[in-house]
Amino acid sequence: MLESMTGRTHDTAAITFLAIALIFYPVDKGITLATALVAILANQIGGLAPDIDQPTAPFWRNLPIFRIFGRFGAKLLGGHRFLTHSLLGAALVGYAAHWLLKFLQPIMPTVDAYLVWWAFMIGIISHLIMDTFTKEGVPWFLPLPFKLGIPPLRSLRLTTGKWVENLVVFPLLIVLLFLIVGAYYNEIVSFIHTEVKR
Ligand SMILES: [Zn+2]
Repeated sequence: MLESMTGRTHDTAAITFLAIALIFYPVDKGITLATALVAILANQIGGLAPDIDQPTAPFWRNLPIFRIFGRFGAKLLGGHRFLTHSLLGAALVGYAAHWLLKFLQPIMPTVDAYLVWWAFMIGIISHLIMDTFTKEGVPWFLPLPFKLGIPPLRSLRLTTGKWVENLVVFPLLIVLLFLIVGAYYNEIVSFIHTEVKR
């Protein structure tokens, strides 16, 4: 059975993409520590979220009740690598997340919901990009019924969970993340201001 990349690859990819986004779109007004922490959490959830269409996803695995729901949810979402692995699905989830954050904003006044939303969406998009490098490909343009993969020749793509992912892709992401954080350490730290911005 074809599966997604491992959860840790997706989590690492999500935060690496977040760091890259911060370099290209620096947060000029400064952010609170609360925003930074919630944004990282949202980014990690976003990095795993598309795999809710997979009954064995890390998302569902932890509780038996979720396992049952996972199987049901996977059917509802059209099986693995369907709606939640497309731009349409990302837009729908993004819309729902927008309203959820709006609803939660009153109980987290020091958190910038806008930045948290972007961190979440970057997590989702990073997931789709990473899965694009795997054999199965990603149905980016659903309802158009084709899956995109890089490189186009399927046999050159990654088999998930195999040594290339674990010994090449995952370490490369870690190195990339360390290089970015190292090179832009001062900028990243300067984003975070602990005083409350209103
Ligand atoms: Zn996936």
